[in-house]
Amino acid sequence: METKVIELTENTLDTPESEEVLKEAGSIIKNGGLVAFPTETVYGLGGDALNPESSRKIYAAKGRPSDNPLIVHIADIEDLRPIVKTIPEKAKKLADAFWPGPLTMIFEKADIVPRETTGGLETVAVRFPSDPVAAAFIEHAGGYIAAPSANTSGRPSPTLAKYVVEDLSGKIEMILDGGQACIGLESTIVDTTVEPPMILRPGYITKAMLEKVLGEVDVDKTLLTDDSGQAPKAPGMKYKHYAPKGDMAIVTGEADEVVKRINDLTAKALSEGKKVGIFCSSDTAASYDKRAVIKPAGSASDEDSVARELYRILREFDDENVEVIYSEAFDYGGVGAAIMNRLLKAAGRRVL
Ligand code: AMP
Ligand code: MG
Repeated sequence: METKVIELTENTLDTPESEEVLKEAGSIIKNGGLVAFPTETVYGLGGDALNPESSRKIYAAKGRPSDNPLIVHIADIEDLRPIVKTIPEKAKKLADAFWPGPLTMIFEKADIVPRETTGGLETVAVRFPSDPVAAAFIEHAGGYIAAPSANTSGRPSPTLAKYVVEDLSGKIEMILDGGQACIGLESTIVDTTVEPPMILRPGYITKAMLEKVLGEVDVDKTLLTDDSGQAPKAPGMKYKHYAPKGDMAIVTGEADEVVKRINDLTAKALSEGKKVGIFCSSDTAASYDKRAVIKPAGSASDEDSVARELYRILREFDDENVEVIYSEAFDYGGVGAAIMNRLLKAAGRRVL
C-alpha cells in the first residue's frame, strides 16, 4: 500500500485545501482504513473506534499484542456519553479541569464499543485531545478514533511525522504531518471506575494537579516498584516499551558524581570498542567525554523541554547505531515522574 504523507498544521486548517485533506482522511477512516495524526502528546495511529475490523488493523500495523487496549479519542464532550455506561462525578470534574488535554480516563464501556478496541476489557479509555489538527481530523472521521501511539510496538513513541513514516510507511493509508508534538510524552491515564481514582500511567498532568481537583488520588503500585509481584493495571505498562537498540543505564547521584561516573563508564566502553551515547541536560553537556555521542535535552530545570526531546533523542541513538547509552537521572517532581517512568522503561530499569 502506498502511504500518503500530507502536511496539515494549525495555521492552514481553515483553507479549502485543508478541508479537502480532512475530508479524504475522514473517508479513509469511515471505510475502515488507518490515518496517523498529530496530537499534543505524541502521534496517534487512528482507526474507527466503533469498527472492530479497524482495531484489528491497528494491532497488525503496529505489531501490537491484541490484549493491549486502545484509547478512544473524541473531539466533543457530548460524544463521551454514548460510549460509556456512566460518567462518575469525579470524571466530570477532571473533564472540566483538563479536557481538551493530555489526560485519558477509564470508564465502564457501553455496548457499542467493540472488545477489539478495548483489548477484551469491559472498560474503555477515552481522551479529548487539545491539538487543533487532531480535533479537526476526529470530527471529519465520525467522532470516535481509536488510536495508540503511531510507532512499531516496542519503539519510542513518535514525536515527529518522519518517525511515523519510518515505522508505518506502506502499512497505512495516510499520515498527517503537523510538526513536532509539543508535549512529547503519552497522556496521563486515570482510572475513574475505582475509589479513590488511580493513576495507571504518569504523564504531563501530574498527581498534584489531579489531587487539586479531586482530593485523594492513588498511583498503581507497579509504577513505583518492579517487585510488587502484581501485573500493572494498564495492560500496556507490562510490555517493554520505548526501548532503544543500545544497552541503556541510568546513573543517579549528586550532579558532579554523575558526570564523573558517566565519564568513567564511557571511557571503559570506548576502550572495548563500543559506540557510546550520553543523554543529559544542557547544564552538564559540556562536561562529558567528547568521543561519546552527547545529546542534551534542555536544562534539567526545564522539564517540559526534556519531555519534548526524550523520544527524538532515543531514536537518534538508534539511527546512529549507538551500542551503549548512559543517561542522567532527572528529579521525580512534576513532569519528572513521567520522564523517569519512560527512562526507566527504556533502560529496562537498569539504574547505577
Ligand atoms: P498507547 O496509546 O500506545 O500509549 O496505548 C494506550 C495505553 O492505554 C496502553 O498502555 C493501555 O494499557 C492503556 N489502556 C487503554 N485502555 C485501557 C483500559 N480500559 N484499562 C486500562 N488501561 C487502558
Ligand atoms: Mg504506545
